[in-house]
Amino acid sequence: MPLKPKSPVGPNFRIGYGWDSHEFKAGVPLKIGGIALDHPKGLGGHSDGDVLLHAITDALLGAVAAPDIGTLFSPSDPRWKGADSALFLEEALRRLQDAGYEIANLDSTLILSQPKIGPHAGRIRQHLSKLLNIAPEQIGIKAKTPEGMGTDNAAIAHAAVLLERSQSSRRSRVSTKKTR
Ligand SMILES: [Zn+2]
Repeated sequence: MPLKPKSPVGPNFRIGYGWDSHEFKAGVPLKIGGIALDHPKGLGGHSDGDVLLHAITDALLGAVAAPDIGTLFSPSDPRWKGADSALFLEEALRRLQDAGYEIANLDSTLILSQPKIGPHAGRIRQHLSKLLNIAPEQIGIKAKTPEGMGTDNAAIAHAAVLLERSQSSRRSRVSTKKTR
């Protein structure tokens, strides 16, 4: 029996996972999922400290085996000082498209003692839906408090994504094959 040839199109599905944490700091605005939340402290960091966007960006980059966010946007590079983290997400989406994938769904968990995320989750989901160009129904946002973890002064985010080979990519790959 001949060996099955290696598929030229790669897998139809890929998963990605990202994690991030930032420390709360007085005097900076709090941004989570691209939304500014009213809170006495924000998240410190080289960019705007948006812990959720960073975890999602790393999940997307990891899913297409691209370099991680810290490698692409070095914290020692002055260009990213105070940068809007949506820029990092845009780069990850560009790489996803280049690789021929689109997002099937995204799930995320935020872990922070304050502020309560529940009242803002709908707004964050709507905004992420615009940033990622997917429906709100494809986005999960969960929030928990860090019981017994001793991380009350930090915000932590986990994100998992499932990618699906994009329809346009399937078509173009198939037509390339036929002309061989
Ligand atoms: Zn970060």
